[in-house]
Amino acid sequence: MGIGTEEQLTPAPGAGADREDLQAEGAEQDRLETYVAELHVHTVLSPCAEVEMIPPLIVQAALARGINLIAVTDHNASANVPAVQKAAAGTGLVVWPGLELQTREEVHLLCLFDTLESLSAWQAVVDKHLPPLENNIEFFGEQFAVDETGAFIRREPRLLLTSASLSLKEAIESVTQLGGLAIPAHVDRKAFGLIANLGFVPTDVSIEALEISRHLNSQEAANRFPQIAGFPLIQSGDVHRLSEFLGANELTMAAPTIAELRLALQGRMNRRLKVLTS
Ligand SMILES: [Zn+2]
Ligand SMILES: [Zn+2]
Repeated sequence: MGIGTEEQLTPAPGAGADREDLQAEGAEQDRLETYVAELHVHTVLSPCAEVEMIPPLIVQAALARGINLIAVTDHNASANVPAVQKAAAGTGLVVWPGLELQTREEVHLLCLFDTLESLSAWQAVVDKHLPPLENNIEFFGEQFAVDETGAFIRREPRLLLTSASLSLKEAIESVTQLGGLAIPAHVDRKAFGLIANLGFVPTDVSIEALEISRHLNSQEAANRFPQIAGFPLIQSGDVHRLSEFLGANELTMAAPTIAELRLALQGRMNRRLKVLTS
């Protein structure tokens, strides 16, 4: 399914088409702001992230790159989100709660939310679907929960670099029901990318956007993967070390919310997404 026409879109929960039309009439009064967004950032909770990925350094590196909106997306886990939010308080950097789910099909899926409450509801679902295995520190790396200064709180004992027993469709539907937005991650990558694993973009579930990796721009992605034609594309650094912030997404929105991101992805009500590397 392409996403070129509004008829094909599934409206967000609580945001029926009628209400959006009413809102559209008042759109000119909305004060729109520009956000430079990096929506895929790992912390030291992810075993594959560098030890430098602690809250204060994440905030500093993002701001230095001109980024004012990030999403924290550790693998199947979210314990460090509040610490990054606290570290960012008062700096002008907005931090969205999120995680990067690994689905049953071994596809990585960014799950983004407005609130910690929605994220923890989703985390509870994910926890129920993760295998009861322990992390192998030697093989995968350390998984640290930290506070806002980056100080050690605990090791996460569970194996996080593994698939949950949730299908891509189930996961997208659940995230959407919880008020979030799900975006298949690095779809151009062989490892855990949607195209390499499935070969196509599923049509039995509403896919609102796709993420491409740092390794190509959106034009190259469209040429190499005709399957993704018509889908809004974001680009992320999939930040595992401080030098990997890209800041490639320029979002014009009235506020940094999931509902506004949705409008920007759809290019509606003067909201826009521009990928700066294209
Ligand atoms: Zn990934
Ligand atoms: Zn990632």
